[in-house]
Amino acid sequence: MRAIKINKSDNVAVVIANASKGECLEGLNVTLLEDVPQGHKVALVPIKKGEACIRYGVVLGFLTEDVEPGRWINEHMLKIAPSPQLSELKAGHEGVIPDYDPERKTWMGYDNGPGKFAGTRNILGISTTVQCCAGPLRAAVDRIRRTILPKYPNVDEVSALIHPYGCGVAINAPDAVIPIRSVKNLTHHPNFGNEIMLVSLGCEKLQISQVLEPDEINSDNVIVLQECDGFKGMIDSICEMAEKKLKKLNERKRVELPLSKLCVGTQCGGSDAFSGLSANPSIGYAFDLLSKGGATCLFSEVTEVRDAVYIIANRCQDDETVEKLKKEIGWYDRYLAKGEVDRAANTTPGNKKGGLSNIIEKSMGSIAKSGNGPIADVIGPAEIPTKPGTVFAATPASDIVCGPTQLASGIGLQVFSTGRGTPYSLKEIPVIKLCTRHDIRKQWPDIFDIDTGDIITGEGNFHDVGLQVYNLILDVASGKKSCAEELGIYNDLIIDNPAPIT
Ligand code: CA
Repeated sequence: MRAIKINKSDNVAVVIANASKGECLEGLNVTLLEDVPQGHKVALVPIKKGEACIRYGVVLGFLTEDVEPGRWINEHMLKIAPSPQLSELKAGHEGVIPDYDPERKTWMGYDNGPGKFAGTRNILGISTTVQCCAGPLRAAVDRIRRTILPKYPNVDEVSALIHPYGCGVAINAPDAVIPIRSVKNLTHHPNFGNEIMLVSLGCEKLQISQVLEPDEINSDNVIVLQECDGFKGMIDSICEMAEKKLKKLNERKRVELPLSKLCVGTQCGGSDAFSGLSANPSIGYAFDLLSKGGATCLFSEVTEVRDAVYIIANRCQDDETVEKLKKEIGWYDRYLAKGEVDRAANTTPGNKKGGLSNIIEKSMGSIAKSGNGPIADVIGPAEIPTKPGTVFAATPASDIVCGPTQLASGIGLQVFSTGRGTPYSLKEIPVIKLCTRHDIRKQWPDIFDIDTGDIITGEGNFHDVGLQVYNLILDVASGKKSCAEELGIYNDLIIDNPAPIT
């Protein structure tokens, strides 16, 4: 049986398939004392009660009983180690950039002018100030898609940016800045080509002036439903404005662009013990290459960075960036405490079934997506990055919230890894899906763009698979459809709202 020990100081290894009592672990000189499920940990040496279980070279927790080599260590046998103190964090000025220089350094995108990320798709995005507009807007978009969009073949899609907020939220609460900024930046997403369109109700708390710039607020860009004549008037107004915007969008052409015009994001969902061994480090390698070439690469998921925060701080180049990191992580600690939980609430029953005993183990796998290079900056939820390179964008780890929050930050593409399997995608940008192991690819052959399982079986390496990810990112950013786009699957747009609802 093949088992993977990732760091030389580890006292456990992970079996790559369901293993039976009596099987020998290849090259590790250990015989299994019991059946061990795929992805789960096996003790390689005797570990006493109270001693550390070490994987990725870090302490995952402390054993609650003595174990012999060959024993299965599951989540019930580990007392979780405490989180690192934020106050002690300092910039480590570390970060390793790969020596390898990829051939491709350009891509084909929709330029949006100086100082802005370019688009990866050509989409009419119709934004809303408030959920109350959802009904008429859905009906209008349905008509636009059937009768107007086919006349403009250079436009890929029309998308209604329908979200649950805009009224009800205590709009002046400090934390309301997050949903407000999310709606504003989603409205101005690079894939919408500066063709602003906003549907408002008229009496909501979220004002048009909080979503648009002063010079954007006019009858060319804004429809107020309470000023329309009946349902028919609403639909006619939306369709008429949409057609004007589609005419302009139809003129957009892809042009060759440097990597500095590309912003990509990554997140993982439905993780297992292989996420940190195959898919996530492959994404990390691709991100290191993209950052080296001048692209902006966002990684997120605060509760999955919390226990690895000192590794991120070590890769920061100045204390100012570390202070931003402490601010975002500290805010999240308090947010969780207000709900009487902590970062450990992150792990799911599926994670545990997949071999991830606790949030520390999950975090070590999760941050592998950020590669090994320097951290260029830290931004808050839905903020737009201003420095190229690898950026920590603080968002919840929840797939359906992290996605739209990174989208609001301006990503033109997201790379998503999964071990357990999830059909997650977004409508406004392409999402590339990676799986961690061959069996899930076999079960869902049409969902995944890349199977990184060769790294688990020993048939592939990070360089080859990571380069495959890098090239696919550039292909898909340049117009090739991802599997999720081919299937037409996408999730709802759930924006983050930590502010109270009145
Ligand atoms: Ca996630």
